[in-house]
Amino acid sequence: MHEISIMSGVIETCQLEALKSRAGRITRISLSVGEKAGVLIDSLRFAFEIAVLDSMAEKAVLDIEVIPFMGECTYCGLKYHSPEGSLICSRCGGFARLISGRELVINSIEVDA
Ligand SMILES: [Zn+2]
Repeated sequence: MHEISIMSGVIETCQLEALKSRAGRITRISLSVGEKAGVLIDSLRFAFEIAVLDSMAEKAVLDIEVIPFMGECTYCGLKYHSPEGSLICSRCGGFARLISGRELVINSIEVDA
């Protein structure tokens, strides 16, 4: 389950940020996760519970915003949502470029002194 190593990295990054701002603990972590980022949200939440143990984020709340997988056709310009993660235009069959849906980013963290 690679969600554990992803979440350890997230916590590590958040701790560095918290230390920079001289905070004592992290109270909230908000993530944006693409629906085709290759991770399971449930697994991420489970991994979070493990990764925060003995960290500054031990009592932190995890917010996850799921970003839909969106493509834009390079031929006809159609913007579409594809839950399957397809980059073939559903209208003309042309190649589409990825707009969103594969990211996994830290949006914000909240800290306490
Ligand atoms: Zn098209």
